[in-house]
This record gives sequence, structure tokens and C-alpha cells, in this order.
Amino acid sequence: MNLSNGIHHITAIAGDPQQNLDFYVGVLGMRLVKRSVNQDVPDTYHLFYADGAGNPGTDLTFFPWPALPPVQRGAGQWDEVYLGVPAGTLEYWSKRLLNVGAGTGGSVGKIETRFGERVLPFSDPHGMRLALVEDRSYDGFVFEPWSDGPVPADRQIRSLAGVRLVERSSEPTVTFLTAALGFRAAANEGQWQRYVIGQGVSGQRIDLRVAGDARRGQWGVGAVHHVAWRVADAAAQSAVQQAITAAGGRPTQVIDRFWFRSVYATEPGGALLEVATDGPGFSVDEAPGRLGETLVLPEWLEPQRREIEAALMPLEPARRF
Ligand code: ZN
Repeated sequence: MNLSNGIHHITAIAGDPQQNLDFYVGVLGMRLVKRSVNQDVPDTYHLFYADGAGNPGTDLTFFPWPALPPVQRGAGQWDEVYLGVPAGTLEYWSKRLLNVGAGTGGSVGKIETRFGERVLPFSDPHGMRLALVEDRSYDGFVFEPWSDGPVPADRQIRSLAGVRLVERSSEPTVTFLTAALGFRAAANEGQWQRYVIGQGVSGQRIDLRVAGDARRGQWGVGAVHHVAWRVADAAAQSAVQQAITAAGGRPTQVIDRFWFRSVYATEPGGALLEVATDGPGFSVDEAPGRLGETLVLPEWLEPQRREIEAALMPLEPARRF
């Protein structure tokens, strides 16, 4: 059964917010579509990078927490994030990351093949693991290029194509992901098992590796904080919420995040996930042409705007490379 339709957004922990902005906008060419604060910790930014329109499934977001120690990688943790790019662009990206990305503190691996697709692993300036993938399967995936970006439209990142997950044992997690979100086994390659939902197109994949003796991973700078899975509307969200409960999970109530509505739960291995509605979207409080230009606060935080702005580090426009 199709419970979720794929990745909605992925949220990670960054270090310095200016370095984060310079890398994701200036090097990777993603659009800053929302500049807000962590709704639970409003003295820290919440920065959202996406395609030109902020479509669900393209959105990588960060909590910059420079005071945290680096991530401790381990089990029960989302790991590398796949960013989908058009076929034949990895040479361009490899050069770009080597020439301009390296000066920002990131590092670049070599082009390899995974599950028949060309992949370029790299890390951002704060040690977050990412990989560009020449993902061939875009049926039904909505992407809009960013016309003002530093990367040509035909080479831009166009989706969050998938995510890696490391667990001590696969069975509890796989049972949960199957029942709660609708995943099914699709392929094996080396240490990795691929699970998909729907057609298994962009954004509908998890690659799972079992590391039986791994210590439990800990959040820190460079970690994925959570992966949000998309549902079309409130009714579909309620169905997933019930499926999580039936699978032995403990979902939260629906939380209004203003641009979407969210339910959170932890899978049996310990990784945090979210179930988010496609709408209303990032244009609900800013004109599509002005997304990300000013600090946007949800209505209930507006009365504290002056204190919140005073506590945040000022951000310069992204340096473009
Ligand atoms: Zn989220």
C-alpha cells in the first residue's frame, strides 16, 4: 500500500549559518526559499534550500548549531543524502566541487556506480555526507529550475533522490517502514539493501546497511536530524499516523508548521522521521519571486520578533562561485 509518496524534506544540523548559506546557494546552486527560525528553539535559524519554486521533495533544510560537537556516526541514524541531478552532469559537478567547493571546506570523492546509476559522493563544509546521483527516474516528479542561480538550469539539483540509513539489525526497521510508510524491498548491492515506495522514482528510496556491532549514532554538526515523508493531504497524513501506531510506533499529534503540517515518530532503530503534507507550501507567506529574502516567523512568534532578530547572527547574501 502506498502510504507516503516519497521524501518531503530532509533536515540536517549545520555549523556556521553563513558558511552553510554560501555552500548550498553559492556552490550547489539551490535556492534559499525560506529563512526562518527553529520553531522549538527560536534563537537559531532554520534555513530551507530547494528548487526554484520550493516544491515538496526538493527541500533540504538546516538548523545551524555551531556550538554542537561533530556528529558521531553509528546505527539508528540517517546517513548520506542523495541529490538528483540530470544525466551526464557529474563531470561538471566534480570539477565545480573541486574548484570552488573545496575552498569552502567541503570534500569530494570519485564518481562511482550504485544500483546502476552514476553517483558522486561529497561532503559539505560541516562534514555532512551527500551524493549527487544521475537519477534517471523522474516520472511524476515536479521540479522547477531556479533562473537566478549560479548553476545553469540543465545542471541544477532537482530532487532529494533518496537517503541512506544504518541500523544494527534490519528486521524491526524494515517491518516498521513497510507497515507505516509503504516501503518494499527492491534490490541488493554489496552491503546495501534498497527499499522503495511507489514506482521507486526520485525521492522514493532508502538504502539500508546493517552494522551489527555499531554504536548508536549521536546528533551533532554534520548529522541528518530527520527525514520527512510526504503525503498529499490531511486524510493521507491521518492514515500514516494510524499505520505508525498499528506498527508499534508512537506518532505525535499533528503540528502546524505553517508551510506544511507534520507528525513525528521514531523508527525502531532510533532514527527520527516526519510525515508532512505537500501543502500549503512556501508561497503561503511570501511572494514566489521573493522567497527567502527576509526572516519569516510563524504568526505565534511574531510578537517576539525583535528579541528573536537580536539573538540571530546577521546573514550576508550568499557568496556565489
Ligand atoms: Zn522537518
